[in-house]
Amino acid sequence: MSKRDFYDILGVTKSASAEEIKKAYRKLAIKYHPDKNPDDKAAEDKFKEAAEAYEVLSNPEKKQRYDQYGHAGVGGAAGGGGGYGGGGMNMEDIFSQFGDIFGGGGGSPFDSFFGGGGQSRGGGGRRVAKGSNLRIKVKLTLEEIANGAEKKIKVNKQITCKTCDGSGAKDKGSVSTCKTCGGSGAVRRVTNTILGQMQTTATCPTCHGSGQQITAKCGACHGEGTVRGEETITINIPAGVSEGMQLSMAGKGNAAPNGGVPGDLIILIEELPHDTLKREGNNIVYDLHVSIVDAALGYSAEVPTIDGKAKIKIEAGTQSGKLLRLKGKGIPEVNSYHRGDQIIHVNIWTPKVLNAEERAILEKLKDSPNFKPQPGKNDKSFFDKMKEYFE
Ligand SMILES: [Zn+2]
Ligand SMILES: [Zn+2]
Repeated sequence: MSKRDFYDILGVTKSASAEEIKKAYRKLAIKYHPDKNPDDKAAEDKFKEAAEAYEVLSNPEKKQRYDQYGHAGVGGAAGGGGGYGGGGMNMEDIFSQFGDIFGGGGGSPFDSFFGGGGQSRGGGGRRVAKGSNLRIKVKLTLEEIANGAEKKIKVNKQITCKTCDGSGAKDKGSVSTCKTCGGSGAVRRVTNTILGQMQTTATCPTCHGSGQQITAKCGACHGEGTVRGEETITINIPAGVSEGMQLSMAGKGNAAPNGGVPGDLIILIEELPHDTLKREGNNIVYDLHVSIVDAALGYSAEVPTIDGKAKIKIEAGTQSGKLLRLKGKGIPEVNSYHRGDQIIHVNIWTPKVLNAEERAILEKLKDSPNFKPQPGKNDKSFFDKMKEYFE
């Protein structure tokens, strides 16, 4: 059987541009699409013929060989994904290689025939199974949040079976090409919709897309390729994370059956409450209790911070509710150099019990003019001050 000229098949001239060739093929592929011509052998042949012509003319290297040597130049020796030799391309090849001919333009009614057109289908059109994601909670102290932390966490999950190295097969001899899909990993399905018959490409139910079938299963994993196991994972938590935040580590989730891609590890952040410090966004608030005497005379106070103790000066005459700021002693913003502050909230402590001597001293001061409250315009209310700090 002598082959027709590829340019004739697509109805273009030798000088046609890549875009013109693509357009011509698209027109023919729609016209002779098997869904529009069910059980029409002639249409199917035309469909395959057009795909074969396009396969060569859309590839600059093959096109050049064809232009120079004709069919002989791109015959069986062309190799590599060509699928020549044995009577042209099969339908699976056409769908997996040229499915995107209808995509890209957006909203083509034929997209669905090709399973979305843009799906990434690795080597030879096979679909790769993906393991499920794994979720864990990590509890962090305020110090760990402020400085970032490296956590080593033991997780129970599906891991690759060591006996079969994830293949699920007893040995190398017990793997064969899947009979359902012929090794392509995908099957075509026809469904009836109000728009007529729609054809979609789906993962092969027998081999789950691997294109291979196992004749004898691995004893350790019963053919799954994965077993329940434990893995210690080192998680680097950046400084500044907060309650409810989720981090994800690609590929650290459950292993996939039959040597697929593992899922992700999703880490949910939980904050442990601190004894004395309280987080407000990226700032840290500390309640400092000062005696009436210290507030009146002034003193040097020691306060806890997330990185150790700090000294602050309490001025003589400090009022209750005063806010002091330790710049840069708060929590860093995630992935930023900006850091919050520590805010010290001064509370004047009124004694709850007095002995006779203390009472006598205070009685003496009772009518002393400086002990009479004299709030001035500059003594802002607590709420005004908080607003100033947190806005
Ligand atoms: Zn195994
Ligand atoms: Zn299969």
